[in-house]
Amino acid sequence: MQDVVEKVYEQVVARNRGEVEFHQAVHEVLESLGPVIAKHPHYAEGALLERIVEPERQIMFRVPWVDDAGQVHVNRGFRIEFNSALGPYKGGLRFHPSVNAGIIKFLGFEQIFKNALTAQGIGGGKGGSDFDPHGRSDAEVMRFCQSFMTELARHIGPSTDVPAGDIGVGGREIGYMFGQYKRLRNSYDAGVLTGKGLAWGGSLVRTEATGYGTVLFAQSMLATKGESLEGKKVLVSGAGNVAIYAIEKAQQLGATPITFSDSSGYVVDEAGVDLELLKQVKEVERGRVADYVERRPGARLVTGGSVWEVPGDVALPCATQNELDGDAANTLLRGGCGVVSEGANMPSTPEAVEAFQKAGILFGPGKAANAGGVATSALEMEQNAGRTRWDFATAEAKLTGIMADIHDSCVAAAEEYGRPGDYVLGANAAGFTRVADVMIAHGIV
Ligand code: NDP
Repeated sequence: MQDVVEKVYEQVVARNRGEVEFHQAVHEVLESLGPVIAKHPHYAEGALLERIVEPERQIMFRVPWVDDAGQVHVNRGFRIEFNSALGPYKGGLRFHPSVNAGIIKFLGFEQIFKNALTAQGIGGGKGGSDFDPHGRSDAEVMRFCQSFMTELARHIGPSTDVPAGDIGVGGREIGYMFGQYKRLRNSYDAGVLTGKGLAWGGSLVRTEATGYGTVLFAQSMLATKGESLEGKKVLVSGAGNVAIYAIEKAQQLGATPITFSDSSGYVVDEAGVDLELLKQVKEVERGRVADYVERRPGARLVTGGSVWEVPGDVALPCATQNELDGDAANTLLRGGCGVVSEGANMPSTPEAVEAFQKAGILFGPGKAANAGGVATSALEMEQNAGRTRWDFATAEAKLTGIMADIHDSCVAAAEEYGRPGDYVLGANAAGFTRVADVMIAHGIV
């Protein structure tokens, strides 16, 4: 790391103590910026780096709610409005017991550069709560969402801050939150949240977008080597929104996904994942991966260990941060894996990224490879603003075009800064320069 960026990183660690995921995300971006600053020193002037690592606003609030037995619970809510240079803050809400300020900050920081890569005029933000929706009734989830939105509503708006879903927040939760927002504001601001239901302002393809985009990114990377996904064995982790639609698109492109997982274990289905059954178990019944194995002869459930022990050609980590460490990366490489496209945010540890890059395989970092979700959220905002609705083919064609542009921007930036094929450098440099140029234009704010 260059001296100038090293100093900024040390400041971040000192000012955000114990927020290890945030440190990790900042380190990865700053490390990539060495060649950018060397070529364009003005990016290190005017405390631009110091400003970009400091959120514009951080909101933390109490979320009290009552369970079905009448017991009162208190969770903590967060919204980090990180950077609005390119547009209203945009980024999902995560409901998971592991959520804390550092996790939301890392996600918000990543979101700045990801959103810049989409070229859709959206700033970076993220939010959530340490609430765990698992095992809660619909009525409990509704009361929690209403309480959460009662505070959040005063901070968001279609031109200010537009949240969406993430881990633990899908169509059901967005519905409850939108209902409460509308009631509080007495205003049908469809553009205040994305990931909405199709009958009330949602966009076709938003549900599929992140998983589809991750696979399209893998396909674009393979195309640079004259290859494709056709006939490849694909390993997927997670069994939520991103994982399910990554499996769907991989199947459409002629690949065979053979794994998925949740926090109870992973499933290997050598015959190829039965997508309809997986959707039934996860989307309809909200069940566990064991429920799939019970109904699918030939599939096996592995508890303990990691999905990355299974040999395959392509890995799509689609669960959560730091789920793929250095050892797992080396196991994947020994198993013949030549492509990793990150559906989750920061699923590979720094050691894993280093192992992939050393081995010279195709590695697509999350901020580029999973940007299809937020890009389609921006398309949802565009449809809301125009009071219009596109058909599936139109929305999917736009997503496909955006993913191709993101891929090409990463390739071009990696070449410009002397490391062809390095998608980490490419994504960070391309995303950073787009935000930094506008921050300079806006003056010291
Ligand atoms: P979901 O809640 O729909 O699914 C998450 C999946 O990952 C579940 O199967 C869950 O299992 C598993 N998982 C989550 N945390 C852990 C953990 N600590 N250990 C093991 N398994 C875990 O979330 P999404 O699919 O929406 O999000 C997945 C990832 O993709 C996240 O990193 C998210 O930030 C990222 N992402 C999502 C976007 C979107 O549009 N939804 C956009 C861009 C990125 P279990 O149910 O057992 O917890």
